[in-house]
Amino acid sequence: MQLVLHNIGTVLTGKLDDPVLAADTIVVDDGRIVGFDDGLATTADTVIDCKGMTIAPGLVDTHVHPTAGDYAHKQQSVGYLERMTHGAVTRVMSAGEVHTPGRVNARSALAIAAGAYHSFRTFRPGGMKVHAGAMLLESDTDIGHIDEAHELGMRIIGEVGIGSLKDPVRSGELSRHARELGMTVHMHCGCTSDRGPGGDAHPHFTADDVFTIEPSIASHANTFASLSDEDIDRLCGADGPPHVEIVQAGGTRSMLRVVERLCETDSLDRLLIGTDTPTGYGVTSLGILKTIGDICSLADVAPETGWAIASGQGARAFGSDGNVIGVGREADLVVIDASLGSVEDSATEAIAAGEFPGVAATIIDGEVRVAGSLCTLRARRVVAISGA
Ligand SMILES: [Zn+2]
Repeated sequence: MQLVLHNIGTVLTGKLDDPVLAADTIVVDDGRIVGFDDGLATTADTVIDCKGMTIAPGLVDTHVHPTAGDYAHKQQSVGYLERMTHGAVTRVMSAGEVHTPGRVNARSALAIAAGAYHSFRTFRPGGMKVHAGAMLLESDTDIGHIDEAHELGMRIIGEVGIGSLKDPVRSGELSRHARELGMTVHMHCGCTSDRGPGGDAHPHFTADDVFTIEPSIASHANTFASLSDEDIDRLCGADGPPHVEIVQAGGTRSMLRVVERLCETDSLDRLLIGTDTPTGYGVTSLGILKTIGDICSLADVAPETGWAIASGQGARAFGSDGNVIGVGREADLVVIDASLGSVEDSATEAIAAGEFPGVAATIIDGEVRVAGSLCTLRARRVVAISGA
C-alpha cells in the first residue's frame, strides 16, 4: 500500500543536527518512507493534499506508566493512549508499570512487567507504539531477575527508586548491570508520589543518588517536588547521566532551568521530554506539545529543535530509529498547522509563541489514524484525503 503526501509546506525531520528538510512530497510504501520524489509513486493508493502545512515525525513520550489495556488506573481513565495520538504522539516509553496492582516483590515485579511487555507488543491503541515492560527494582531483586527480563526481550528498567529497593548502592549495581546488557534505565528524581511496596523510605532522590546509581536517564528532573537548583545544575553538567528528562507533570521553573543549563553547554542532545502520564495531575493527551511550546517560547529553543528533541531523540534513547523523517524510516507522521483563528501563520510560528499547533492528521506506519484531532484546536487548513 502506498501513501503519498503532496503540497507540503515545511518538513521537520526529527533530527537535532539537521532539523528541517526541503521537500514538497513524501512517498510511503508498506509503512515506510521510500523517498521525496513523485516519480516513486507507482500505485498511490492514498493521496493526501497537505495544502502547504507542516509535516513532522510523530512525537515520543519518554515517560508514561501503562498498566494493561488502554486503561489508566491512577485516573480511572479509559482510552488515554489512543487519545495521545490526537496530540501528535505515536510512540510512548514505559517508565514502569507502577500502577498495576499486586506488585509486592521481585518476582511479581518481573511478572507484571513481562505481562505488559508481551501485551503491548501487539496491542496498539489507535496505532500507538507502546514500549512497555519496564521492570521495577524491589528489595529482593537480584542480577538474575534483570537477566531474565533481558532474555524475555525487555529493554527498559522502570524508574529506580519507585520500587521497594531504596538503597542507592545496591540500585547502582543493578543499574550498571542492566546498562551493560544494553537496557535503558530510568531513575526517579526528587520526591516520590507513588511509593508502592517501599512505603515512606527514602522519599527524595538527589543528584548524589543519581551519581551513585548511574541510570541512563535522570527522569523528571522537574517533578513537582523537585531537585534543588544546585542538584539540577550538577545533573546537567558534563559528568551527569546521558539523558536528563523534563515532564509536563512537573514544575515550570525547574523545567526551564534544565533546558537553560543544557543550552549553555550545547548539550540539548541529552534532553528528553515526557509527560509522566498518568499521574495525579491527570492524563495529558497534549502534554508533549505543551512542553515543546513551553521550551520554545520561554527558553532559547527553536521549534524545529524542540520537535527533534521530542521525536527522534526520544526514540533513540531507547534504541529505536523511529520518529525521524528519512528514507527507509517508519512512516509515523503528523500534519500540523497553526490553529484556526490563531494570530500565528504556521505550526512553527505557533510553537514559537507557546501555542498548541492544530493536528490535522496523524499517520502511523503509513496508515491515517487521525484526520482532524479531537484534542487540539482545529488546524487552520484541513487535509484532503483521496483513495483511503
Ligand atoms: Zn513517573
